Amino acid sequence: MISTWFIKELRAHVQGEKRKGKKIAIVPTMGYLHRGHLSLVEEAKRAGAFVVMSIFVNPLQFGPKEDFGRYPRDLERDSSLAEEAGVDLLFHPALEEMYPEPMLTLVEVKELDAVLCGKSRPGHFTGVATVVAKLFNIVQPDLAFFGQKDYQQVQVIRRMVSDLNMPVEVRSVPIARAEDGLALSSRNVYLSPQQRAEAVVLYQSLEEGAAAIRKGERSARALENLIRAKIKAESSGDIDYVEVRDAADLKEVTEIEGPVVIALAVKFGQTRLIDNKVVEVGTDV
Ligand code: AMP
Repeated sequence: MISTWFIKELRAHVQGEKRKGKKIAIVPTMGYLHRGHLSLVEEAKRAGAFVVMSIFVNPLQFGPKEDFGRYPRDLERDSSLAEEAGVDLLFHPALEEMYPEPMLTLVEVKELDAVLCGKSRPGHFTGVATVVAKLFNIVQPDLAFFGQKDYQQVQVIRRMVSDLNMPVEVRSVPIARAEDGLALSSRNVYLSPQQRAEAVVLYQSLEEGAAAIRKGERSARALENLIRAKIKAESSGDIDYVEVRDAADLKEVTEIEGPVVIALAVKFGQTRLIDNKVVEVGTDV
């Protein structure tokens, strides 16, 4: 399955599939695949699409002090996992293929990129939106699959697609978790056994937060404090943020009245983990 698809050949091949009447789906990833990535492929297959998976560790979305250089990579393993999952075409472009020249054109999704992860990772979402826009232009998919694990990313991409009239339907897929609840992430391999054991507090504190809402807690600040306190008490994690925000537009909320997302980012040593939970106040609560 590992084959070097250049943009030109890939386009011709995808066009051929389109002419056969196939819908085209893209599953963008940075590789080091796990069950979360494969669940996106599963959804794409379920939609009956010709599935293109991209594997590209995109330097544009990493800050200068972040882990671009040491981000885990294993193309051979990824390639067999992708094939087993039913990926039809694996696109793993070289850096020079994606960025033959320095980028003078960037896609910035204002406001949505300035909160939560955007605050501690300036430029990150511009990097994400820009590479996804490029992938959309290269593959010209009908459908694009993203994980709810990166909740803010999905909102950023949806807004880009809507603002720029991109002819792509964005679908999001629930978070795949380890047995103890930790959200699967390629970065989990960085964790020491102790950090790995402690990291389960993220999932547990989100569940506690959701339970508190169900029991009637409506103060966003009280909820954030509850979650922070649990993380501090039960782990050595260094909290970047714990925030309750409007699930649709990521705006701040004080009183919880409608659907909210509880989102958090916590560092265990050098490893920054994120997780979130959507609570549909008003419908299921
Ligand atoms: P990444 O390779 O980390 O950039 O992720 C590629 C895609 O897989 C993104 O759309 C992620 O949101 C999604 N993804 C990563 N981890 C998970 C997970 N645990 N569950 C569901 N989707 C995930």
